[in-house]
Amino acid sequence: MLRTGKEFLAGLKDGRTVYIGGEKVEDVVEHPAFRGAARTLAGLFDHKADPANAEPMSFEEEGERFSSYYLKPRSKEDLVKRSRAHYAIAERTYGLFGRSPDHVASFVTGLAMNPEILDRDGDSYSGNVTDYYEHLRRNDLYASYAVHPAPQSKNENIFGDTRGYQAVLQVVGEDDDGVILNGMKMLATAGVFCDEVWIGNLTPISDDKKKEAITCAVPMNAEGLTLWVRKPMELYAATEFDSPLASNFDESDVMLIFDEVRVPWERVFVHDRAALSREIYVRTASHTLGNHQSNVRFHAKLKFIAGIIHKITQSAGVDKIPVVAEKLGRLAAWEAALGGMIQGQIHDHEELGNGYVNFNRRYMYAALNWCQEHYPEIIAMMRELSGGSVFQMPADISVMENPATRDIFRDYWAAGNESAVDRVKLYRLAWDMYGSEFGSRQQQYENFFAGPSFIVRNHSFREAPWSAFGAVVDGFLDSIPVPGDSE
Ligand SMILES: Cc1cc2nc3c(=O)[nH]c(=O)nc-3n(C[C@H](O)[C@H](O)[C@H](O)COP(=O)(O)OP(=O)(O)OC[C@H]3O[C@@H](n4cnc5c(N)ncnc54)[C@H](O)[C@@H]3O)c2cc1C
Repeated sequence: MLRTGKEFLAGLKDGRTVYIGGEKVEDVVEHPAFRGAARTLAGLFDHKADPANAEPMSFEEEGERFSSYYLKPRSKEDLVKRSRAHYAIAERTYGLFGRSPDHVASFVTGLAMNPEILDRDGDSYSGNVTDYYEHLRRNDLYASYAVHPAPQSKNENIFGDTRGYQAVLQVVGEDDDGVILNGMKMLATAGVFCDEVWIGNLTPISDDKKKEAITCAVPMNAEGLTLWVRKPMELYAATEFDSPLASNFDESDVMLIFDEVRVPWERVFVHDRAALSREIYVRTASHTLGNHQSNVRFHAKLKFIAGIIHKITQSAGVDKIPVVAEKLGRLAAWEAALGGMIQGQIHDHEELGNGYVNFNRRYMYAALNWCQEHYPEIIAMMRELSGGSVFQMPADISVMENPATRDIFRDYWAAGNESAVDRVKLYRLAWDMYGSEFGSRQQQYENFFAGPSFIVRNHSFREAPWSAFGAVVDGFLDSIPVPGDSE
């Protein structure tokens, strides 16, 4: 089934426990910290459920329709469809929702394409992931994930015995029904808007941390689970005009605290196996399907940013100056390069040998690294080409409401064919993208959403065909004659 936006919003009123500082949120859908983003997400569900958008947003199987990000790809055409659906979602959110509904869903779909990986040494969890995949797609659910230990886990010994709880999420008990979890887990982006959270370890943990290896799924309203959101930018966005992005696209980031949360065995995927808890993503299509979405999402954002920068240079009347045009050309080349890297993942896709195909994982990791490396440069260019113009703008759009300021504003702030209001609107947008607290969080997100840079590059290191590269060198070295060695 495909949920409408209304059904999605109704699902958020499920009694989950959310805190903003010391305030307990009664209603996520109506709270001023989340209202705008919740409606943006509802718009995505409506778009997807609209039969006019069936292609590329959904697919049919045995008479039922499912979201395209649950499609297990069997052909290049399926990959194209998945990619187009990611683009449609990313373009409607300007690439500002990192964990839109297609991100974690793609991870789970990738695992469900090779569930046998979960069966080791007598343990049999493959059926659980297959069932969970069915549960998500049949109910058109939205899942987030927390797959990183809380930073406090590095200081384990200051907690523990004396304070009676664990900083790091782990299994503290198990019985016939399932496992019991206590501790803290980082950092379920968009979790406040999700139906479910996937718990696991994309960041490696050492083999002795068996109880932290737990990989499972939990509904957001599970008893004992509390969601602690960081400062919500939407709450501090005074008007939509002055903070156009924070007002509608703050996906939020959530720390999770588990206090005796019971997870039934059917929702447990890895237990007591530290190495396996990490491997399952990179030894299946999971990590690649999930992060193809990240690449596409970044591309949509880059196009949006390129448009903003170009408009700003036009507004300032500097776009034709050769040095400025050279910078814009560099930006355009970056945008096109990323587009090419994404299309290459489809063109040179992988056959998985079990009837399924995957995007080219090496190109995906290359793009992931490229995005992480380039975002600061992209933002630096935006800052440079904006000059000081953002600070020439009046404090806020209330200038239009006061007859004493309105006419002066309209006369002095207009430029060429652009009205004063149009100019302020554009510069407010630019500032929200790179300068406001919302923009600053975006920069942190692009730096860390897939892990720190050494982890991201390690994926490329792991997947590179080093022996093939070495063979090229050997071939060349062998072709060089050695003087005096005629044998
Ligand atoms: C906005 C945002 C959204 C996020 N969303 C999610 C999410 O949805 N789900 C999720 O699970 N996680 C999410 N994360 C968490 C993310 O995975 C981590 O922030 C990331 O893995 C870095 O871990 P850390 O923050 O604990 O930093 P640390 O591990 O404390 O690292 C701090 C710095 O030290 C460096 N460093 C640490 N260890 C080493 C080492 N061994 N060698 C060299 N350098 C090192 C790092 O590169 C980094 O620069 C998000 C993070 C951010 C900022």
